[in-house]
Amino acid sequence: MHEFTPEVEALAHEILDYSLVRLRTDPPLDGPRTPEELFELAGNTITAEGMGGHKTLELFKDVLATACISTDHPRYLAFIPSAPSEYANLFDLVVGASALYGGSWLEGAGAVFAENQALRWISDLAGLPESAGGVFVQGGTIGNLSALVAARAHAREKYPTVTRWVVAASAESHSSISSASVVMDVELLLIKPDGSGALQGGDCKAAISAYEADHPGHKVFAIVATAGTTNLGIIDDLQGIGKAAKELGIWFHVDGAYGLAALCAPSVRGLFDGVEQADSLIVDPHKWLFAPFDACALIYRNPEIARKVHLQKAAYLETLDDDGEWNPSDYAIHLTRRARGLPFWFSLAAHGTNEYSLAVTETIEVAIKTAEIIKAHPNLELISEPKLSVVAFTRKGWGAKDYQIWSDKLLADQIGFVTPSSHHGQPILRFAIVNPWTKIGDIEAILATL
Ligand SMILES: *Cc1c(COP(=O)(O)O)cnc(C)c1O
Repeated sequence: MHEFTPEVEALAHEILDYSLVRLRTDPPLDGPRTPEELFELAGNTITAEGMGGHKTLELFKDVLATACISTDHPRYLAFIPSAPSEYANLFDLVVGASALYGGSWLEGAGAVFAENQALRWISDLAGLPESAGGVFVQGGTIGNLSALVAARAHAREKYPTVTRWVVAASAESHSSISSASVVMDVELLLIKPDGSGALQGGDCKAAISAYEADHPGHKVFAIVATAGTTNLGIIDDLQGIGKAAKELGIWFHVDGAYGLAALCAPSVRGLFDGVEQADSLIVDPHKWLFAPFDACALIYRNPEIARKVHLQKAAYLETLDDDGEWNPSDYAIHLTRRARGLPFWFSLAAHGTNEYSLAVTETIEVAIKTAEIIKAHPNLELISEPKLSVVAFTRKGWGAKDYQIWSDKLLADQIGFVTPSSHHGQPILRFAIVNPWTKIGDIEAILATL
């Protein structure tokens, strides 16, 4: 099994060569094909005899890879793009080659040590105490769910007579919060944000008190604040919501999957004041911290609360559970895990944190400049000044269909990938700028088609 035959050696070079070409050059955006088209081109790839490494790689390069949009393309501005650094991507090759197990200290001490230092950087930026800690999970969805499960377990101990649990969040919160409430079978109390789209602490307190007065036996166990909404990059009133949570005696979770990356950007750090009160927070390095998919940093103020509920108990696992060692598996809904925080750690360790601050700041500056160009554009209207690096706007006179036709053509022409969204029920366009290689020229090229 471990024989590195000449055939394997040759394949290794082919794979490394392809990876280097992929890393060195801006690949085309590419785009999806139908299953029928792909079958026409690829046929049935799983056969009894196997195709051999060379042929399988060729098929991937020529057919399959070209049917996947390059999410790190500088003119991919839809959803939240990805922008892994070269260092992070290259180190992912090492992680892939190393058969590391990231679930326990016993098996992966070195990897876990490094991941924990990367988590510490985020935790320090947020101003959490020394005792804070957590784990890299697959994404913000699992991060939010794991944090809320810990929050509820904590509340159950404090309030044993509650018959129905409730999580409170902004009506603008991410879909994963609603999804978590379904998985957990708890109620979701959506609170209306203010005119700017930010949820305010005072409104939370009033809404929660009113809800609980109307629903005997129900109790809100956590408030989720969003630090950078996905659609518009709006940051809730973290200071006020943290205070409200404290006064109500409930958990304060900050969903910063996209936005908390900007904790490292001095120009906007003040927008996150209050985050230091969080009982838990998440941020996805695969969004705006230059890491490859898939990595969400999940951090708890008091990790022991999370450990109590997430630790899996079984005879065959008991050997892992002693000496107070840090087992990442114990802090979220998972057991086996790859050391997915390592590409992020490597990039952060190699580049240094200053470079991270600079790169995030640069994308914010591009967003500000983009907003200025949009304001000066005869056909476009800016929805609001960008807070972080999402710029949302409308095209005068266009309906939902016009936006979709434009978006489809933009991709078909391989100019860019920008998908329509909506705001207050109206169709809009938005650019999410997280890639330091997205330059003003890229923005202008897209705006020229509007
Ligand atoms: C992206 C996002 C999520 C979900 O994260 P995934 O990594 O896609 O699971 C949650 N909350 C916010 C605010 C997000 O932007």
